[in-house]
Amino acid sequence: MYKRKRIVIALGGNALGNTLPEQMIAVKSTAQALCDLIEDGHQVVVVHGNGPQVGMINNAMAALSREDPNQPNTPLSVCVAMSQAYIGYDLQNALREELRKRGFVRTPVVTVVTQVRVDPDDPAFENPSKPIGHFMTKEQAEHAEKAYGYIMKEDAGRGYRRVVASPKPVEIVEQDAINSLVDANKIVICCGGGGIPVTLQGDHLKGASAVIDKDFASCLLAEKLGADMLIILTAVEKVAINFGKENEEWLEDLTVEQAKKYIEEGHFAAGSMLPKVQAAVDFASSGPDRTAMITHLNKARNGIMGKTGTRIHL
Ligand code: ADP
Ligand code: MG
Repeated sequence: MYKRKRIVIALGGNALGNTLPEQMIAVKSTAQALCDLIEDGHQVVVVHGNGPQVGMINNAMAALSREDPNQPNTPLSVCVAMSQAYIGYDLQNALREELRKRGFVRTPVVTVVTQVRVDPDDPAFENPSKPIGHFMTKEQAEHAEKAYGYIMKEDAGRGYRRVVASPKPVEIVEQDAINSLVDANKIVICCGGGGIPVTLQGDHLKGASAVIDKDFASCLLAEKLGADMLIILTAVEKVAINFGKENEEWLEDLTVEQAKKYIEEGHFAAGSMLPKVQAAVDFASSGPDRTAMITHLNKARNGIMGKTGTRIHL
């Protein structure tokens, strides 16, 4: 018997490309991969990354304030919001078209601009380490520190870059609205770029100068939606131990315990595969009916059928 699953899909950088024209093209094949799952009867909720896009918007807004002194600098939280809307627009458009091609003429696709609450005492704020935006000279970096209060770090001999904190997501502010839309069978795109980071100040949600990892935000979303699966789609078909070494071994099926052991042994690169495996472990740990899978964007359908990908479960 075929069981309809509620699936949170986290899309990586290769689903969107690096520039405006690249994204227009990339979303077409991304939409095909997502529609394969919708056609198979699954309920799909989409989260996406925004690294190149938020960097591009941040640079453009910085150029604006350099050119026009009346335009103050744009907060990073606003840049994330802009990236969610822009990426959501392209994805909504591509999904609508692909759905119509397959006969789903009435399936609505909707993007939710999503705020995600972070803890102002998260230790990540003490040690901002995630580089964003363009490279600067020493002089430009010093100016940015003084003028905008940025924290600048030298990046591997290539120049200076702004670094921001990457705190853990605590609560998805629009969670109830997302649940209602998903329950009503709408195709929802949300928590883009990991969500707009905000901290609670009384009734006010204040945008934070931070970025949330989309893999962790997808995990929280999947838990709160009561999803059956969290699928992280990226540029590799499977997760490996001894990645890139002679004794590299591609993994198919992992228990949470095995995955934790491999994390401790340092098999997964920080900032790329580590957050994915950690998010997969967290989701799978939340219940015996919950499976996480990491695979290539174009292998999602085969992955759900158990033909490829790396699965993590209790
Ligand atoms: P995304 O944009 O999908 O988040 P990332 O580049 O952040 O993609 O992470 C995926 C990349 O992680 C893979 O393309 C691969 O090069 C790298 N990687 C690091 N460690 C591993 C590992 N142990 N197994 C597989 N891939 C790994
Ligand atoms: Mg990544």
